[in-house]
Amino acid sequence: MKIICVGRNYAAHIEELDNEKPEDPVLFLKPDTSILLKKQPFFIPDFSEDVHHEVEILVKIKKIGKHIDRKFAHKYYDEIGLGIDFTARDLQSQLKRKGLPWEKAKSFDGAAVIGNFVPKTTFKDVNAINFSLKKNEETVQQSNTALMLWKIDELIEYISKYFTLKIGDIIFTGTPAGVAKVNPNDNLTGYIEEKEVFSIKVK
Ligand code: ZN
Repeated sequence: MKIICVGRNYAAHIEELDNEKPEDPVLFLKPDTSILLKKQPFFIPDFSEDVHHEVEILVKIKKIGKHIDRKFAHKYYDEIGLGIDFTARDLQSQLKRKGLPWEKAKSFDGAAVIGNFVPKTTFKDVNAINFSLKKNEETVQQSNTALMLWKIDELIEYISKYFTLKIGDIIFTGTPAGVAKVNPNDNLTGYIEEKEVFSIKVK
């Protein structure tokens, strides 16, 4: 399986990092080795002094597809999840300045938290899902999928022009504002609407 991540998909997050609004979605990949194993803590890697949490809505692909039209994109997923795209922000900034790929900053071991999935039928509209992240009982990121610049079905159309989507692939749909550094002993808990879908400890 592969993980396809979308960057710069919420206007408020683009502003907080002082990035330009892209003409097309920004895509990057995480390998399967980046998945944080269930019930394991997240260890801050020694090559970064500034690892950020980015909470993101996830989409699990259930059918193989290429060049998927957005009209049919809804047929390719049944489950919505929530995860964290951990980002070594200091390293990513260096790589960005040099025009280099971001993988070392985003695709290291443990950098992909994948929470529990919820059936799509739970929601009236996948483009109106509330989600949030608490750090030590304080809500630090909170948004709604309505605020995505590119909605889920548009992302599937765009991504599948470049990458064949296969069963079990997961799309990280981008983070809203509120990204910040994690520290040892932080607890990070993710919610879709009121439902807790992951809880992890930082070490
Ligand atoms: Zn992200």
